[in-house]
Amino acid sequence: MTDEVLIVGGGIGGLVTALSLHQAGVPVRVYEAVPRIEPLGVGINLLPHAVREMEELDLRRALEADGVLCRELAYYTKRGQRIWSEPRGEEAGYRWPQISIHRGALQMVLLRAALERVGEDRIHLGHRVAQVESDAGVVEVTLEDPSGRSLGRAQGALLVAADGIHSSVRRQFYPDEGPPRWNGAIMWRGVADAPPYLDGRTMIMAGHPELKFVCYPISNAGARPGHRCINFIAEKRVPVSDDATPEEREDWTRRAHIDDFLPLYEDWTFDWLDVPALIRATDAVWIYPMVDRDPLPRWTFGRATLLGDAAHPMYPIGSNGASQAILDARALTGCLLAHPGDVERALERYEADRRPATARIVTANRGMGPELPMQLVEERAPDGFERLQDVISDEELSEIADGYKRVAGFAVESLNARASLADPQSWREP
Ligand SMILES: Cc1cc2nc3c(=O)[nH]c(=O)nc-3n(C[C@H](O)[C@H](O)[C@H](O)COP(=O)(O)OP(=O)(O)OC[C@H]3O[C@@H](n4cnc5c(N)ncnc54)[C@H](O)[C@@H]3O)c2cc1C
Repeated sequence: MTDEVLIVGGGIGGLVTALSLHQAGVPVRVYEAVPRIEPLGVGINLLPHAVREMEELDLRRALEADGVLCRELAYYTKRGQRIWSEPRGEEAGYRWPQISIHRGALQMVLLRAALERVGEDRIHLGHRVAQVESDAGVVEVTLEDPSGRSLGRAQGALLVAADGIHSSVRRQFYPDEGPPRWNGAIMWRGVADAPPYLDGRTMIMAGHPELKFVCYPISNAGARPGHRCINFIAEKRVPVSDDATPEEREDWTRRAHIDDFLPLYEDWTFDWLDVPALIRATDAVWIYPMVDRDPLPRWTFGRATLLGDAAHPMYPIGSNGASQAILDARALTGCLLAHPGDVERALERYEADRRPATARIVTANRGMGPELPMQLVEERAPDGFERLQDVISDEELSEIADGYKRVAGFAVESLNARASLADPQSWREP
């Protein structure tokens, strides 16, 4: 019988799972639906707990070289008045940085490493997993090429479904679930070639939940001299019912035009950032609705389990999407190492830890997570303020920020003190 782990999806979660299990001596195969992996997407953030796991995989330097070490996160009103700022990464006392990076660059770093370490013969592009069957210690998948032609079947000891928000494996487990839930927010996302703002390493959020602008530098290379690649998200939210779904099926590759949203920001010219100029300094914009799915009661069915967005798609609030997929991959590795020869027990441990942990983040993000102060200040002082303390106290601000870090698992002291998630010691029975 094979002892291979079959991984569905060669996105962020799938490739990190492959690299992590390979490092642990577990044989893997990756099946990715697209025939060619392109550096798609815009910016993404890796939080210190995820960078720590990337360091264990010997990828930290490569990511640092392609990205920007985020030094500060700052919240502003729609008039550009500062509400709150906090140091990030090593500046906040973590042993690891926060890395802002182009998702495509991240995926290419992972793909190169996977091809080199795991081997080209084990990364199967153009192989869509159409069906999964799990039975008596074996899992079997049915494979198709992009035109739907059969590519036969493959067997493994375990299947990890890292096939994203539209996971077909999840749909097989939960056929009645339907499309993702939409909170009424539309995000226009792009990368500007523009001069740096503030200290050149700050992520900012301005506005409030109905109209927001987020930006952060993701690369010091690739832009014109003196400029940076600055990722931005312009976000507008309209009221919708609790069970709303997007008008069009969400797709990371749907293009839009700046005229669709630039007028909303025409007067957002602050003395430290010119938002309309930043928006104009991009030549491509993508549109994506803010969607997630309800937390699931179960991830594991026989020898198959879910990971990353397939398991817990969440609103992109608090920079957690990619980071949590990485933590899943490393926790799964630790559980398998802690329970050699007992895949069922390993999967139980993985799910018992990661399912509630990620469900808490999905819920916190629905409640605006760390962005709550922007709403409170907008409600209390829509026309601006003279003194911030008259509107919101320091205690209220730091309680919101610290509370979210605890929920998302990156409270500084506990992260610095604990072992890597792939360390089997963390998962042995007490
Ligand atoms: C093209 C693309 C662009 C993105 N851009 C951004 C972005 O700009 N900003 C952001 O915050 N997040 C972006 N994301 C989402 C982000 O990557 C995830 O939220 C996060 O990194 C978790 O990763 P994941 O591996 O769980 O899912 P994903 O990174 O979405 O990867 C899932 C992978 O599974 C593959 N797949 C799907 N179905 C099958 C199947 N049946 N068989 C085999 N393979 C399958 C997909 O082709 C994809 O490569 C993007 C995702 C994609 C796919």
